Amino acid sequence: MTEKLSAEMLERFEDVSRNYAEITENIARAAEKSGRKAEDITFLAATKTVEPCVINHAVSLGLRYIGENKVQELLSKYDEYDLDNCQLQFIGHLQTNKVRQIIGRVAMIQSVDSLKLAKEISRQSVKNGINTDILVEVNIGREENKSGVFSEELDELLGEIAVLDNIKVRGLMTVPPICEKREEICKFFDNMYKLFIDISSKTLDNISMDFLSMGMSDDYEDAILCGANMVRVGSRLFGKRIYR
Ligand SMILES: *Cc1c(COP(=O)(O)O)cnc(C)c1O
Repeated sequence: MTEKLSAEMLERFEDVSRNYAEITENIARAAEKSGRKAEDITFLAATKTVEPCVINHAVSLGLRYIGENKVQELLSKYDEYDLDNCQLQFIGHLQTNKVRQIIGRVAMIQSVDSLKLAKEISRQSVKNGINTDILVEVNIGREENKSGVFSEELDELLGEIAVLDNIKVRGLMTVPPICEKREEICKFFDNMYKLFIDISSKTLDNISMDFLSMGMSDDYEDAILCGANMVRVGSRLFGKRIYR
């Protein structure tokens, strides 16, 4: 760590520090407005394309949850994450044949949308003697070519996952359609919250509705106001993504 940070990197760290303070303040304000406390909301940083040293800088500021969305990228950065101080989750589309590569490395998989995928997570978890937490991803905007189950498929999928070994459903996740107006996106958030509450009210074995993961850089405050208790923020924290 004796290496001197470049002026460019120092500037990035300063930007991230400023952004982190701003986001945590906004989260706290939105939490209070919706009758909750800042601690009730989990702030997960979406870290795709971000260098580990920049991610770890955010962790040094207090960030406790990070999420990657590509298996290859996660594996290439894995040894560099400061995992003593933050928890790593998987938030992207996951192919069944790649489950084996991340099982045991991630604390939660947020993007489970098929029984086939859940079965493989269960199988690999059993094999490794661990339990894996998951969220079920809902395609709340019913968009073609988008991950997630439709709301009417949710009950059946939850029932099927509930009986699998070493896998536990901890809540729901969504990436709503891109909307021009706040009211439009809030409608999707409201619908997710209704599903979340509806499922919470039933007592299902092996299913607990602890997390409602929705809201990203442009809409995390609205998502919290609509009932989210986990937001996934990327570019607002780390700056515009540069794909290399
Ligand atoms: C990239 C990503 C985010 C964060 O997106 P931003 O708009 O940069 O905040 C959230 N969720 C998922 C699943 C992502 O892939």
